[in-house]
Amino acid sequence: MKLCRFNKDRLGLVDGDTVRDVTSALEALPVCTYPLPRYDLLIAHLDEVCKRVRELAPTAPSLSLDSVMLLSPVANPGKVIGAPVNYKKHLEEARADPEINFQAQVQEIQRIGLFLKATSSVIGQSETVRISHAERRNDHEAELAVIIGKPGRNIPKENAMSHVAAYCIGLDMTVRGPEERSLRKSVDTFTVLGPWLVTADDIPDPGNLDFSLKVNGDVRQFANTRDLVLSIPELIEYASRFYTLHPGDVILTGTPKGVGPVVPNDTILTEFAGIGSMAVAVGLQN
Ligand code: MN
Repeated sequence: MKLCRFNKDRLGLVDGDTVRDVTSALEALPVCTYPLPRYDLLIAHLDEVCKRVRELAPTAPSLSLDSVMLLSPVANPGKVIGAPVNYKKHLEEARADPEINFQAQVQEIQRIGLFLKATSSVIGQSETVRISHAERRNDHEAELAVIIGKPGRNIPKENAMSHVAAYCIGLDMTVRGPEERSLRKSVDTFTVLGPWLVTADDIPDPGNLDFSLKVNGDVRQFANTRDLVLSIPELIEYASRFYTLHPGDVILTGTPKGVGPVVPNDTILTEFAGIGSMAVAVGLQN
């Protein structure tokens, strides 16, 4: 099932080029009071919501997908976990290019581990990536985003896939420079999630998905998730040795070779087998 958040926090079922407005399925969610939970309420109750969506869909109002504003499919991720250089050919590229590595030794993920992106950087496809450091190189990174559905800590990789609720496309936008990744990758609008989530049952083999990224129509990245250095189960095992994973936490699984700069007025088109395509505009910070 493909679920989107659109316009002013509406919930939609994506079906081809239409969206069914199934917002009333959100009535399946419990009412929370202060202090709000650290997890995303929709993702924590995704099964119940999907059941309601199926009941509502046949009679739900239908809109054209083109006509709606798509928001991040996860409204409140507790954390966004990044996987640095998790494709071997991107490691080689990063080590060879001083504009990427800034004279710092590019380490393998098994040594350097993971990093966090500020959740305030998250936007959806219809918002705009806003460049705030225009004098620097601002790069696109196309990635498979894994949305955690079930809480866990010290999750063995053998059980890891049972903790996955859904997938979406992720853009891990990055300002190049000497600072820590967590700073450079957490600029407002620098985490794009979308265009919708696809429930895990619809993607039986997330470890074998072709994907590509184009800027203004030119192919920059083309890869398959089978070339991940740490696989999805291994990333979940690794992350959960350090952090309790909560529903709605997002793991950006890493980007393949071909990262490159974008500038205002560019359009980034990312296509993923099994998910769809996401077109995102680039602009200047207001
Ligand atoms: Mn990345």
